[in-house]
Amino acid sequence: MTPDISKNIKTVWQEIEKAASHHGVSVPPPKLIAVSKYQSDERITAALTAGHRVFGENRVQEAEEHWSCRREEYPDLELHLIGPLQSNKVARAVALFDVIETLDRPKLARRLKKEMDAQGRFPSLFIQVNTGEEPQKAGCLPNDLADLIHLVRDELNLPLEGLMCIPPVNEDAALHFALLKTLAEKYDIDGLSMGMSNDYAIAALMGATHIRVGTAVFGGRP
Ligand SMILES: *Cc1c(COP(=O)(O)O)cnc(C)c1O
Repeated sequence: MTPDISKNIKTVWQEIEKAASHHGVSVPPPKLIAVSKYQSDERITAALTAGHRVFGENRVQEAEEHWSCRREEYPDLELHLIGPLQSNKVARAVALFDVIETLDRPKLARRLKKEMDAQGRFPSLFIQVNTGEEPQKAGCLPNDLADLIHLVRDELNLPLEGLMCIPPVNEDAALHFALLKTLAEKYDIDGLSMGMSNDYAIAALMGATHIRVGTAVFGGRP
């Protein structure tokens, strides 16, 4: 059975409001990226029918399968790549996505520049920061961030919109959200993509401009 996705989306907003009123703060609503990876066509259609248009995917191939055929019917779609991007998929990623959130290394920045110029298509970019400095995780280390920002913004003139992080599973996410925000302020970057199904309300309270919510919108992934 398809979960009530329209209701789930409303619940996400209510949770944000509830947390905000509990803490006595007013938060500007972040953009809700509904993460559709591994979800069925039926659930994706239900989200579109509910009026949702902003979606996130982890893999280029799966994103093409989910979305290439729907672009025409929904010209106002906004697709975010939130999974690691291999250099050999850059052309396809630039062709499909409106926002690429996982820029994390100089080589990838140069490939994106080349491909964006070639296609005349300029998705906006987030730099993924490995705030927990986890060796197995993608993302730019905080110590390498200044150089990467300089390359992306000043040398290559790419549209850098924000920073993104995925906190380590067993740590307090709030510490990582705080670090990401501090880094964004330090480098004068507006966008903050942080918070998933388990912690989006905290992320919103801490200034997220984008939250990436899969399970809480679509139900569990197979
Ligand atoms: C899968 C994924 C999400 C969504 O996770 P949920 O816990 O289902 O909300 C968000 N961000 C990234 C980077 C992901 O890979």
